[in-house]
Amino acid sequence: MYKSHTCGELRSEHAGQQVTLAGWVHRRRDHGGVTFIDLRDRFGIVQVVANPENAPEAHRPLVEVRSEWVLQITGLVRLRPSGMENPRLPTGEIEVEAIEVRILNPSKTPPFLINKDEEVDEQARLKYRYLDLRKERMRDNLILRHRVVKFIRDFLDERGFIEVETPILFKATPEGARDYLVPSRVHPGEFYALPQSPQQLKQLLMVGGIERYFQIARCFRDEDQRGDRQPEFTQLDLEMSFIEREDIMDLVEEMYTKLVKQVVPDKKIFATPWPRLTYQEAMVRFGKDNPDLRFGMELHDLTEWSAGCGFKVFEDTVAQGGQVRGINARGLGEYSRKQIDELTSWVGQYGARGLAYLAITPAGEERSSFAKFLTSDKLQELKTSFDAQPGDLILIVADRPPIVFESLGRLRVYLADRLGLRSPDIFAFCWVIDFPLVNWNEGEKRWDPSHHLFTAPISEDIPLLDEDPSRARGQQYDLVLNDNEIGGGSIRIHDRSLQEKVFKLIGLDPQVAQERFGHMLEAFEYGPPPHGGIASGIDRLCMILADAPNIREVIAFPKNQAARDVMADAPSPVEEQQLKELHIRLDL
Ligand code: ASP
Repeated sequence: MYKSHTCGELRSEHAGQQVTLAGWVHRRRDHGGVTFIDLRDRFGIVQVVANPENAPEAHRPLVEVRSEWVLQITGLVRLRPSGMENPRLPTGEIEVEAIEVRILNPSKTPPFLINKDEEVDEQARLKYRYLDLRKERMRDNLILRHRVVKFIRDFLDERGFIEVETPILFKATPEGARDYLVPSRVHPGEFYALPQSPQQLKQLLMVGGIERYFQIARCFRDEDQRGDRQPEFTQLDLEMSFIEREDIMDLVEEMYTKLVKQVVPDKKIFATPWPRLTYQEAMVRFGKDNPDLRFGMELHDLTEWSAGCGFKVFEDTVAQGGQVRGINARGLGEYSRKQIDELTSWVGQYGARGLAYLAITPAGEERSSFAKFLTSDKLQELKTSFDAQPGDLILIVADRPPIVFESLGRLRVYLADRLGLRSPDIFAFCWVIDFPLVNWNEGEKRWDPSHHLFTAPISEDIPLLDEDPSRARGQQYDLVLNDNEIGGGSIRIHDRSLQEKVFKLIGLDPQVAQERFGHMLEAFEYGPPPHGGIASGIDRLCMILADAPNIREVIAFPKNQAARDVMADAPSPVEEQQLKELHIRLDL
């Protein structure tokens, strides 16, 4: 046994006991010849004292040790002298008087300090990830992630779900990204695709009679590396038979509500039961389909009001089929012209060509980019609709609807951050439902599935697939938490002819459909049960629970933002011989 106790567990009641500890040198100090070592393992830190007079044998090796050396120490637990306790350390009442010290391994000086929570360049952290993992913050994040996954496994197990592994070497499973391909050596010129999700496999498990499946599943998507994404990420993937949309939503709602209570009991859930918004409502009120419900600042529709309002920009936009909408950022009425100009260029990145404003200082003084063009009645109407008060900043975008929604939807969140309205301790979960089944892809002149091609339309909307596909709603549900989409799923099509109809609608050639999904179509001729499911991102959920700034903080060995593993240096070139065996010639 290397250790009788962990470094984190010793308390005053252990005083008088002889213990053996093993861990890393967190910190080393000398005080008048006496050496103090803070010894650290995964479970905590404990202070060890070696006095050259009482225990010269134990003290001698400690003269040369440095940070991150690995030691085994046997010693006597004793209470710290009164006044010397360290209340910040769980083991702070005691210290261990060294009797015997063994150096298990020396260490080079680490490239960054492990014993301080200071800002370190992320590339260095990723290159030396094994050292970064020694830090308290990363250790806590991994423990939290473990608890999350364990909770999920236990919860679903109790409800009759079984975890089934599905292949990593498979065939393309499109979720809207590019595939990672794996060349086959034994089948020259042929490739496996890594799953973008186990979507088809879990549906086939339902055809296989499994009824309640889940998996903590790795998914692979070769996407452009914008935003906070990883080429491989983890989903809780789940599928059930003989259920309806509400069954899945209720299950997930109960699971995550209990998970929050158990894993992060200090956090509060904003509203229970979780609000359910239609896609339409989410867009109109919040400008996005992943709304943050923790604060108001909802969008107001000024389109009707704008017609004939006197301000030409608004009038022209509406005449050309555009819309005019605005938000009221309470508390920013004192913003200077320069600050508002900054906001204007900020929304410019989402396509908005301008930001009209009406600012009212706390003293009631008004400044506006457009009020002078309005009649006093129109101005009054506008103020009434925003319930304008001193201290308010009303910001308006007039443009094509997608630009209006995106720029205001994002501006609302951006300003809420500035106003401190987005507390990391409050979790606002909600469901967004009734998405359009398909969206028009103007570039390719065809309908794209808004979720994926196995999502069932709402039954009463099936005739719309022929008449007006844009109005058909899908039986899809998105799970949203504080401005993040953390999951999505749907009730699936379980009828071969309806599936073929949807393939046709999205312009999937029957022969191509046969090549890609022939196995699904065939399986669907052998009595597939009605079924549906959901997948929820574990990385993002853990990021939010841990209040971490990005998902890399909750992944042990993430890729950097250029999709590289900088520790192992992957991807990297391979031997010519390997390529030959795979029948691959490079054309760079
Ligand atoms: N496979 C889907 C996804 O990864 C989720 C689902 O429909 O269950 O987004």
